[in-house]
Amino acid sequence: MEFFDALSELVPADRLRRNEALDRHTTYRVGGPADVMCLPETRSELLEVVSCARVREIPWLVLGNGSNVLFSDEGFRGLVIKIRGSTPAEGTLWHLKQEDEFIRAGAGVSLPRLAWSAAATGLSGLEFCTGIPGVVGGSIRGNAGAHGSDLGQVLESIELIRPSGDIVTIRASEAGFSYRKSDIDRDGIVTGAVFRLTPDEPENVYERIRDFTEYRKRTQPSSDQSAGCMFRNPEGDRAGRLIDAAGCKGLQVGGSRVSDLHGNFVVNQGGATASDALRLIDLVRERVFERTGVALELEVRVMRTGVI
Ligand SMILES: Cc1cc2nc3c(=O)[nH]c(=O)nc-3n(C[C@H](O)[C@H](O)[C@H](O)COP(=O)(O)OP(=O)(O)OC[C@H]3O[C@@H](n4cnc5c(N)ncnc54)[C@H](O)[C@@H]3O)c2cc1C
Repeated sequence: MEFFDALSELVPADRLRRNEALDRHTTYRVGGPADVMCLPETRSELLEVVSCARVREIPWLVLGNGSNVLFSDEGFRGLVIKIRGSTPAEGTLWHLKQEDEFIRAGAGVSLPRLAWSAAATGLSGLEFCTGIPGVVGGSIRGNAGAHGSDLGQVLESIELIRPSGDIVTIRASEAGFSYRKSDIDRDGIVTGAVFRLTPDEPENVYERIRDFTEYRKRTQPSSDQSAGCMFRNPEGDRAGRLIDAAGCKGLQVGGSRVSDLHGNFVVNQGGATASDALRLIDLVRERVFERTGVALELEVRVMRTGVI
């Protein structure tokens, strides 16, 4: 495979895989194999990998922690570039550094780690992130949020690789953030960001984190395998309420089930496939539409084979 050989020149063998099962890289734990998976550590490695795929017209996509995606059972025909680090390290895509009220973080830093690190240094604004199992890059793209806050509100600037290959830093106000959306969908790959936070006593920050964590435990199936909320909240309402009103809680297709605790979570009961989840999603949508007249839109991104 000529493409794989070319990548081998750019990335060490232990960070390059063929036929990598995607269920190991998503929180819903479904998805067939990616032809190739590559785990770049630095921005320059990432740039080289992307241009290697582009010149050969190989379909590619970027993955963070895989907590907001659903890959098909056929997997992905092309290259999956996974950006995620376990421990912050300078010079990598998972660097993490505080300077006064600013925190600079690489795309591969986990949101909970970012939030705990801010709390430890007496910075407030990221408390809502502790229960969100994404990393900075994927979470900025989808403007992750909870408890009335979202990343767009605490970001100062974002570093991106544009489709042209240029590396640019944009102000957060230029990223087009809205409810669980950003213009980064069109604009390329996030490599890092700067967050502007508010000084506060660490005990106050920890207390808010505790409150949010307890609320999540009470209201969401956090310990089950899921991709978070399956549907976007329609204007002025909540998808979970509509799903409940349509009698869909507990509905099951194969190993996929609408959570009994929170109707907007589809959980993997063990052995679920992507097609189970997709059939269940269709069923829920149909029933909600029939009973309430509302057409639910997906929040989770369904990654179809070979489509970027
Ligand atoms: C138990 C649970 C609770 C959750 N709670 C919340 C919540 O409260 N609020 C919330 O908003 N979400 C929540 N989620 C959903 C999910 O965790 C978030 O959407 C998260 O921000 C996704 O980040 P990720 O790194 O996993 O992205 P991924 O799922 O890996 O990717 C998401 C999208 O971003 C793209 N992408 C990934 N990395 C980059 C990059 N570097 N540059 C550009 N594009 C990129 C991918 O191609 C994909 O389209 C929850 C999920 C679970 C499982």
